[in-house]
Amino acid sequence: AALLEIRELSKSFRTDSKTVQALHHIELDVQEGEFVTVIGPSGCGKSTLLRIVAGLDVGYEGQATLDGRAISGPGIDKGFIFQEPRLFPWLTVEKNIAADLSLRNPEVKRRVGELIELVRLNGFEKAYPKELSGGMAQRVSIARALLRNPRILLLDEPFGALDAFTRAHMQEVLLDIWRRNGTTMIFVTHDIDEAVFLGSRIVILKPRPGEIRAKIGVDLPYP
Ligand code: ADP
Ligand code: ADP
Repeated sequence: AALLEIRELSKSFRTDSKTVQALHHIELDVQEGEFVTVIGPSGCGKSTLLRIVAGLDVGYEGQATLDGRAISGPGIDKGFIFQEPRLFPWLTVEKNIAADLSLRNPEVKRRVGELIELVRLNGFEKAYPKELSGGMAQRVSIARALLRNPRILLLDEPFGALDAFTRAHMQEVLLDIWRRNGTTMIFVTHDIDEAVFLGSRIVILKPRPGEIRAKIGVDLPYP
């Protein structure tokens, strides 16, 4: 069975004046170890889809399972990286990365140091979020998501705020993690070049007049 199975998934948002159908009967399978990039124009439901897979949004119709279990329940280790960095302003960089683990544990300390190296924030261990640029803060968020070597990483346009050089570096970091650990990746972007560069498969979320429907893309040979 696929690691992620989505069947007949629909989601609408009701506001006072109208109902927006964000997802309409989505079918999607993601196998363990795939690097799936999800592209589509703004507003086609990419973030909504990812939030559902992340378990952050439970008000949907249809089925979504991860490793054979309902997404809402406890399950496999997931890492999320959002469009905007989400850091605790009162914690230093290293404490933001360690999250609920104690840096007094030498194993945690070592892992955090390794991640700081990976996202090139050496020297900023003791800095607070307000001292960082947007791109640096995003790299802290990325390091935090990697802390526990999650089996699946969910990324919502994570590199949008990075300059071209840092973006290229972070893309390589992500590919390296994927190749070495076989982490399953679901990566949302509206950048087609990025989707082609990163993905072992591209999924196109395509809005149609009056409906929004998932179209499953071709398998691309990976170099
Ligand atoms: P994308 O990530 O592809 O830009 P989204 O998943 O953010 O698309 O949004 C899909 C649709 O659902 C859009 O029309 C958006 O306006 C609507 N939507 C998303 N979140 C909400 C919300 N919390 N309340 C109302 N409408 C929403
Ligand atoms: P990005 O937003 O991609 O992190 P910036 O252009 O903002 O890049 O910063 C480039 C470099 O300048 C950073 O990698 C960092 O070394 C340094 N820098 C940026 N902002 C700060 C800051 N507030 N304090 C110290 N150094 C900074």
